[in-house]
Amino acid sequence: MGREKPELGAKERPFDIFIIGGGVNGCGVARDAAGRGYKVGLAEMNDLASGTSSKSTKLIHGGLRYLESRQFRLVREALAEREVLLRMAPHLVRPLRFVLPVQKGMRPAWLLRLGLFLYDHLGGRETLPATTTLDLPRAGAGKPLKPHFAKGFEYSDCRVDDARLVVLNARDAADRGAVILPRTQVVSARGADAVWRVALRDGTTGAETEIFTRLLVNAAGPWVEEIVAEVCAQNSPRRLRLVRGSHIVVARIFDHDGAYIFQNPDGRVVFAIAYEGDYTLIGTTDVDFSGAPDKVAITPEEIDYLCRAASAHFVRRVETADVVWAFSGLRALVGDSASAAHRATRETVVEERRIGGAPLINVYGGKITGYRRLAEKILQRIGAAIGPRGESWTARTPLPGGDFPGGDLARFVRTLRAQKPFLAPSLAWRLARAYGTLCLGFLEPARRMADLGEDFGGGLTRAEVDYLVEREWARTPEDILWRRSKLGLRALESETGKLAVYFAARQQKSNARTSRENPQ
Ligand code: FAD
Repeated sequence: MGREKPELGAKERPFDIFIIGGGVNGCGVARDAAGRGYKVGLAEMNDLASGTSSKSTKLIHGGLRYLESRQFRLVREALAEREVLLRMAPHLVRPLRFVLPVQKGMRPAWLLRLGLFLYDHLGGRETLPATTTLDLPRAGAGKPLKPHFAKGFEYSDCRVDDARLVVLNARDAADRGAVILPRTQVVSARGADAVWRVALRDGTTGAETEIFTRLLVNAAGPWVEEIVAEVCAQNSPRRLRLVRGSHIVVARIFDHDGAYIFQNPDGRVVFAIAYEGDYTLIGTTDVDFSGAPDKVAITPEEIDYLCRAASAHFVRRVETADVVWAFSGLRALVGDSASAAHRATRETVVEERRIGGAPLINVYGGKITGYRRLAEKILQRIGAAIGPRGESWTARTPLPGGDFPGGDLARFVRTLRAQKPFLAPSLAWRLARAYGTLCLGFLEPARRMADLGEDFGGGLTRAEVDYLVEREWARTPEDILWRRSKLGLRALESETGKLAVYFAARQQKSNARTSRENPQ
């Protein structure tokens, strides 16, 4: 009898790279590394994107406010990356125009114009339109604002579906050979003889397994120090500053698809962004945080702050009772802890060390906007540590589903509706934005709506749910309603209940099958 081939990650066949954390940074590194031919594994202790990467303001932006603190390099890199991500993920990333009203007693108009001139010219803008000046009482975008706002500017940035960006990076990594293990916690990692021995705990069964890897990447976001100190049993060289940022969602305040950026008396800015068609997303706050990262939650004071910031600018008052959803995330910032939280640097720090000859790369901080460039930088370090492989490739290759002609989403929706005329326009748009061409896969056999199976509300059909379980690691209704989509905003209790019942049955079958086959 021939000997069985050892599993990838076994001592005889270690991973080249094992990544802790299934946020945007971990999944971005996994995609890039797998595409270069490394053997890659990734463990995420909860659902993919369940940490900071689904709690952001959902902007791909240069960060206008960072110009004030002279973080020019950070802003330039981020501005340039907007165009790359627009090409790479035209389903998930879309241009967004921001209205910035000039306010008495705040930054003067000339200073805002100067900042926006730099913003337009620093980062090699190609397709996004330039800044314009607005006569607010006449401009449509001025209508929802209080009448005393006379002048403003309108400039470009982009929006992104943050959680889907993470999942599609993971999907692409897996399609290129990476082993993606959601609901798997890394409980210990020990380096010896130039290899890491890593203990993993299955979040569902509690079972522990061991894998081996030549290099470990710690992309655990707000948990990064905990990984160094508790999982790797090492001293952490950095003092991480955790800053809570919270958002509220209310029924739509204005009837266009753009956004506003407001200056507040405390020097901070607050965004109000058209969200999911019928809503406005308002955020964020900056509050120093201590405690367990998974316990982060918005406080009544933050809700009040955000309602007041919006009410100071919009004709319509925003009250606590208007809030239909709220979420909070933690910025993991490095450096100076003395300054106000909103002034602390947003620079990313990549730190490398060897334990028992085995390389460990720790990632501190970062932005969703910069995740792809950060992955490239980390891949350079990885190449130097364990031998280079492949070239930079991610800027030129669309994420799964982003390969429709010219990145023209409206045209893709027209094609989709021509092929599947039974799709209501709003559903066709939702599917196109979430999946791009990937939705053709689960829509393919259907000739009419009923062929897609039970409708769990908001056009979420059995075909889509099955796809999300089989291809996107969804395991609970929450994974689908709040991360793979935002249908939770609209779902009725009865619909959520139906989904939970179907899910439990679907899950049982899928568990039985998964235990027989290899993991995804
Ligand atoms: P995370 O997404 O937190 O991922 C880390 C993961 O590690 C978590 O999912 C966690 O469960 C997992 N993990 C931890 N310990 C273990 C373990 N032992 N085993 C296995 N897994 C583990 N950036 C922008 O570009 N645009 C924005 O508009 C923007 N807005 C923001 C607004 C707010 C309020 C905040 C807080 C941040 C914002 N950011 C924005 C920054 C951006 O969201 C973060 O930089 C980015 O999401 C960090 O990703 P990450 O992968 O490093 O961390």
